[in-house]
Amino acid sequence: MSLNKKQSLPCPKCGQLTDTTIWNVITVKDSPDLKKDLLRGKVNFFVCSSCGYRALMPNAILYHDEDKKLLFSFSPCNSPVKTQELFDKVCENAEQSGELKKLEGYNLRFITNINDLMEKIVIFDLGLNDKVIEVLKVMILSKEPDKAQHRDCRLGKRDGDKLEFMIRDTEEKQIYTCSVPVSTYETIYKNVMQSGVKPYSFNWELVDNFYASRIMNGFNNIK
Ligand SMILES: [Zn+2]
Repeated sequence: MSLNKKQSLPCPKCGQLTDTTIWNVITVKDSPDLKKDLLRGKVNFFVCSSCGYRALMPNAILYHDEDKKLLFSFSPCNSPVKTQELFDKVCENAEQSGELKKLEGYNLRFITNINDLMEKIVIFDLGLNDKVIEVLKVMILSKEPDKAQHRDCRLGKRDGDKLEFMIRDTEEKQIYTCSVPVSTYETIYKNVMQSGVKPYSFNWELVDNFYASRIMNGFNNIK
């Protein structure tokens, strides 16, 4: 069941009180429209009714897609150190609470960036796996290694037999697109799975570019 609370909050810019609905739990089965809103960047954003100031609320969201066996734990956080601390705690709690037994075959993801959350929903909606997509993204960015530091890459969409990635360069202030044949994705999928990586989780996983680099160095998530 999707859960929310309503809060009246003052705008940080102009002070106007604005009613905001904050979602803590999103269950896709009961709330398909809410999922659509989330993908449109409309969930848990404060939008001032007077000056239009817009900001993401600092609240956590648990996203559950029963049919696709996805459980995403989203905790907004900008600091890599804090992210690692939060992640370690989530993994420890999961082992102690016994919740993992009920989540067999699930993909469990710990996510701290709202754009990553949206991207992962899109990835699994397209029937793809984010571990393989992260490897592909590292490969795309490594084509120009001197620029990789100020670039990020996201899956945009699937267009026929091509996957379209968007590369945002924060220094050049440009957005580039990069098309990758689906057959390339499939080859990498096969290689990643052959190396022992499972397309499901044994505990919460933080699947990002660092995770992809570890896969490329022989890491797998076999329990
Ligand atoms: Zn305002």
